[in-house]
Amino acid sequence: MHRRDLLYRLDLQNFTRELLSLYDELIPTEEEEVRRRKFFSKLESLFERELPGTRLFLFGSCVNAFGVCNSDIDVCLSVDEEEPNKIELVVQMATILESDAMLNVQALTHARVPIVKFTEPATGISCDICVNNTLAVVNSKLLHDYAQIDVRLRQLAFMVKHWAKRRQVNDTYRGTLSSYAYVLMCIHFLQQRRPPILPCLQEMRPTYEVKVGSIRCAYYDQVETLRDFGADNKETLGELLTAFFDYWACQHDYNHSVISVRTGGYLSKNEKEWTRRIGNERHLICIEDPFEVTHDLGRVVDKHSIKALRAEFSRAANVIAFDFNPWATLFEPY
Ligand code: ATP
Ligand code: MG
Repeated sequence: MHRRDLLYRLDLQNFTRELLSLYDELIPTEEEEVRRRKFFSKLESLFERELPGTRLFLFGSCVNAFGVCNSDIDVCLSVDEEEPNKIELVVQMATILESDAMLNVQALTHARVPIVKFTEPATGISCDICVNNTLAVVNSKLLHDYAQIDVRLRQLAFMVKHWAKRRQVNDTYRGTLSSYAYVLMCIHFLQQRRPPILPCLQEMRPTYEVKVGSIRCAYYDQVETLRDFGADNKETLGELLTAFFDYWACQHDYNHSVISVRTGGYLSKNEKEWTRRIGNERHLICIEDPFEVTHDLGRVVDKHSIKALRAEFSRAANVIAFDFNPWATLFEPY
C-alpha cells in the first residue's frame, strides 16, 4: 500500500472515531427518555379530563429514532371527525394548557399546519401539538422501522442533522430543509450504496397497511428479519458521511432527478411534473414524500436558499477532503 493511501486510511479511521464519539454524546440519556414518558402520560391524563373522546399520539424525532438529546416533543391530537375545525381546537388546547400552568403557550393558528406550542415548567420540555396529522404519525413509524435495520442510518442521520442545525440549513421557514427531509436523504443514500445498506421497504410484501384519507400507506414492517441486510457492505460512518456530502455537492442531478425512498431509486422531474414553478413552489431540489407522493419536501427551497444549501454541501465535502481536523471544522457554527 502507498504511504499516501495508508495515511488516508488512518485519517478516515480517526474521522470515524471522532464522529462516533459525537454520536454517543448526541444520544438522549435514559433519564431524558423517562422524563419524556412521564411528561406524555401527564399530558394524556389532562386531555382525557378536558377533551374526552380524543387521543394523543407521539410523532417526529421523539419516536422515530432520530431525536438527539433535548429535542422538542411532537404530539398529534386525534379527533374522530372527517374535517375538524383545527384552528378552533388549537385555540381550545391553548386555553386548557394555560389553565394547567404551562409556560409560553402560543396558538399558531395561521401556520400551514396549525399547532399549539408550550413548555412544561417542571422539566423544561418544549412540545408542539397539531390536530389529526395521521400521515406524520405513519411516516414517523416508517423512519423508525428503517432505523432498526442498520445502525449506520441513525449514525449518519445524527451527523447530517447536527451539521444542518449548526450550519443553519435546517429551517423550512427560511427556505432550507426539514429534519424529516434530511433523514429521507440519508435513507435514500443508504439504499443506493453497493452493496446496499438499506432495502426499499415499500417495494416489499406489505405487512403493515393503513389508509389515511385517500392515501394507502403500506410496507414491510417486520424489520427484525432484516438485521443482516447491510452486512456485506463494510463502509464506516466516516466513509459514508464523506460520500453523502460528495453526492450532494458534486453528483446529484439537480435539474432532472427526484430522490424517492418509496421506490428505492430515482424518478425524473418530468414524470412527477415537477418541472414548472407553481405559485411559490419551485422544485430546485426534489425529495418525494414516501406516502404523499405529490408532495416534494424540497418545495420550500427558493432560488436564494438553494445557493446557500449547495454552498454548504460543497463546503462540507471540501472540509472533509482537505481540512486537517475535519470533524471540528465540519460542525463549526455558521
Ligand atoms: P427535530 O429533531 O429537528 O425536531 P423531527 O424528526 O421532529 O426533527 P421535523 O422536521 O420537526 O422533524 O418534523 C416532525 C415530523 O413531522 C416528521 O418526523 C414527520 O413525521 C413530519 N413532517 C415534517 N415535515 C413534513 C412534511 N413536509 N411532510 C410530511 N410530514 C412532515
Ligand atoms: Mg421535532
